[in-house]
Amino acid sequence: MPFFGMFSNDIAIDLGTANTLIYMKGKGIVLNEPSIVTYDVSSRKIVAIGEEAKVMMGRVHKELNTIRPMRDGVIADFEIAEGMIRMFIKKISSNWMPARRIVVCVPSGITEVEKRAVRDTAEHAGAKEVHLISEPMAAAIGIGLDVFAPFGNMLIDVGGGTTEIAVIALSGITNGVSIRIAGDELTDAIIRFFRSNQNMLIGERTAEEIKCQVGSVMPLKEEVIIEVKGRDLVAGIPKITEVSSIEIREALNPPVAQMVEAVKVALEKTAPELSSDILERGIFLTGGGALIKGLDERIRVETGVPVHIAEDSLTAVAKGTGKVLEDLDKYRKVMLKR
Ligand code: ADP
Ligand code: MG
Repeated sequence: MPFFGMFSNDIAIDLGTANTLIYMKGKGIVLNEPSIVTYDVSSRKIVAIGEEAKVMMGRVHKELNTIRPMRDGVIADFEIAEGMIRMFIKKISSNWMPARRIVVCVPSGITEVEKRAVRDTAEHAGAKEVHLISEPMAAAIGIGLDVFAPFGNMLIDVGGGTTEIAVIALSGITNGVSIRIAGDELTDAIIRFFRSNQNMLIGERTAEEIKCQVGSVMPLKEEVIIEVKGRDLVAGIPKITEVSSIEIREALNPPVAQMVEAVKVALEKTAPELSSDILERGIFLTGGGALIKGLDERIRVETGVPVHIAEDSLTAVAKGTGKVLEDLDKYRKVMLKR
């Protein structure tokens, strides 16, 4: 009776700096929550994860701490990260059996030590078999590019902590650039703008909301003015101020310019045959950070290459990691070696 076979516990994890997604074999994406943990400072016991922890962010008292354990693209706090993964897995598991196989995607610039740490974390969380795949490769598979074919595809995944730029051909990344400037840096640029230009402190959540709603990197058809609430730096009291989308764009420019520069560097390092493939097929953008208004146009203007934003930008990596899990044999070649 093929009864037990139906309840495979194999999973794929997109352990992002901003969001964690879990794909369950045969089911698809079963969890999509912020990579955020609230824990008790003295006992280090986790009190909330994901959405629940995000609400607490910036609102906790001194006994509780809210952190993003993956902040810079790799595991910054092992113990907490492991606890978070364990709790996410528990949340989706319909039965007690721990996951047997886990495919995890990692930034392409990851070191051997960091790779080891991800493996250990997954093993401690209950995995019997751990496979690693690089994020841009997973993203490419997720949006349906043929990564085995003898032509070049350029993919840029803009996450929270890292921007991964990769040229993929013949099952491998022929040239990759990974920089630690992505969505978080854009949020930080907005916080800095309010501090230095408006004498005002705003929280990370507020800054992120402003970024998503009115943040842009190219002139908008209609520029807007918004009201922002925060705390006056000098008087220490709550304050409301008005800023325009033009000012926000100026604040975002330095990190955006660095991202575009990295794309240019990657293009310069690309072999001529691959360059012509990319010119013909365009650059593909994935990741939540790619949703900042005008990024596609900005890259197109500065590089002369067509740019496409993936439809399922925020889930591309998880979907690709899931496809690898569904067919480990087919994708063995594209996985990272030990
Ligand atoms: P990661 O893979 O690192 O977890 P994601 O691909 O989930 O990151 O993207 C998260 C980043 O995308 C965050 O910095 C978030 O603020 C940003 N983001 C999400 N939606 C938007 C949007 N509409 N506009 C601008 N940035 C966005
Ligand atoms: Mg990601």
